[in-house]
Amino acid sequence: MDLFEYQARDLFAKHGVPVLAGEVIDTPDAARAATERLGGKSVVKAQVKVGGRGKAGGVKLATSPDDAVEKAGQILGLDIKGHTVHKVMIAETAPEIAEEYYVSYLLDRTNRTFLAMASVEGGMDIEEVAATKPEALAKIPVDANEGVTPEKAAEIVAAAKFPAEVADQVADILVTLWKTFIAEDALLVEVNPLAKVADGRVLALDGKVSLDANADFRQPGHEALEDKDAANPLEAAAKAKNLNYVKLDGEVGIIGNGAGLVMSTLDVVAYAGEAHDGVKPANFLDIGGGASAEVMANGLEIILGDPDVKSVFVNVFGGITACDEVANGIVQALELLKAKGEDVTKPLVVRLDGNNAELGRKILSDANHPLVQRVDTMDGAADKAAELAAAAAK
Ligand code: GDP
Ligand code: MN
Repeated sequence: MDLFEYQARDLFAKHGVPVLAGEVIDTPDAARAATERLGGKSVVKAQVKVGGRGKAGGVKLATSPDDAVEKAGQILGLDIKGHTVHKVMIAETAPEIAEEYYVSYLLDRTNRTFLAMASVEGGMDIEEVAATKPEALAKIPVDANEGVTPEKAAEIVAAAKFPAEVADQVADILVTLWKTFIAEDALLVEVNPLAKVADGRVLALDGKVSLDANADFRQPGHEALEDKDAANPLEAAAKAKNLNYVKLDGEVGIIGNGAGLVMSTLDVVAYAGEAHDGVKPANFLDIGGGASAEVMANGLEIILGDPDVKSVFVNVFGGITACDEVANGIVQALELLKAKGEDVTKPLVVRLDGNNAELGRKILSDANHPLVQRVDTMDGAADKAAELAAAAAK
C-alpha cells in the first residue's frame, strides 16, 4: 500500500526523522486557518500517490493566509498524471533550501536483500540522475539481520559523498529512517528532497512510503492509512470476505482454486475471447484450497455483483478439497444466493478435474441447474464462457 506524503510525514515524525509541521485539508478555505497556525506562510502541496507533483504545479509557496487559499484553490481538483487532487497538505515553509539530497531504503527482490540508495543530487530530477549519471546514486546493500547501524550509515554517507558539514546529521537520519522502515514493515521509504536548509539543518521535505500488506496482521495501525475513497468497491467487499480478488476490465468472471490455476485461466480466457468479440477476463479470484459452499457463495456473490460480468467460468482442480465437495459447494452456493434474494441470471460454465472429478461432474449434472453448464476441458470451458459473454454483451 502506497501512502500519501502527509501519512509518510507522520510516520517519519513518529520515528524521529526530522520533518516540518503540516496538516492536510480538502477545501481551499481551510488553508487560511492552517497557514495562520504556521505563522502566516506555508507550502501548499498536492496529496496524490504519484511523483512529479512539483513539476506539474502541485507544490506552491503561499506568502499569506489569503494566498494559501488561492493556491489551494488552484491545486485542489488539479489532474496530476491521471490522479485528481482531493487533499492538499499545508506545510511549514522550510528556511531557504541550500542543497537537495536523496535517500531511500527498499526491498531489492532481485538480489534478495535490502538496498540503501543515496545521492547528493536529489530534488525533482532524481530519476534523470539515476538514468544518466548512475555514479551519482550510491547503492549499498543492507543486511536484514544487521540493519543500518551508525557504522553502516557512515558507509552510505561516504559512498554518496555527502559534504562533511552534514555527514553526522544525514547518518542520524539514515538510522532513524531505517527504524521507520523496519518498525512499519515498509517495502519502500524514500526522502526526496532531504534538504539542507539555510540554518544548517537537514530536513525531510517530501517522503514516499509503501507498506507491506502481508504484515497487516501485526500492524493494526495501518488499516487507518488506507485510502477508502480510492478503493474499488468490489475489491473492498472481497477483502472484507477474505477473498483474494482483483478487478480487471473484462466480461468473463473467473473463479478458480490456486493462484497458478487462476493465472493460467486468465490467459486461456483472454485467448479464447479473441474469437468472441475480444471478451476478456473480468477478474482474478482465487478461492484457495478449501472451496466450501460458503467460500464459493462469497466468491460468486462478488463476481455476480460486477455489472461488467456477462458469464462466469468456475475452473477447479480437485486436490485436498475433492471435486464432489466443490460441486456440492456450487449447487449450495446458488441456493444460498437465491435464499438471500440475489437473482442469479448470468450463465456459469464449470470445469472440474482432478480428485473425484467424475463424482463432482455427476453432482452438477444431477442438480441440472438451468444456468450451469459443465464443460470438462479447460480450453473448451474457456471458449464456452467467452462465447456466452459475447452473446450476452450483444
Ligand atoms: P515532488 O515533485 O512530487 O517530488 O514534490 P516535492 O515535495 O519533492 O517538492 C518539489 C520541490 O519543491 C522540492 O524539490 C523543493 O525544491 C520544493 N519544496 C518542497 N517543500 C518545500 C518547502 O517547504 N519550502 C520550499 N522553499 N521549497 C519546497
Ligand atoms: Mn519529492
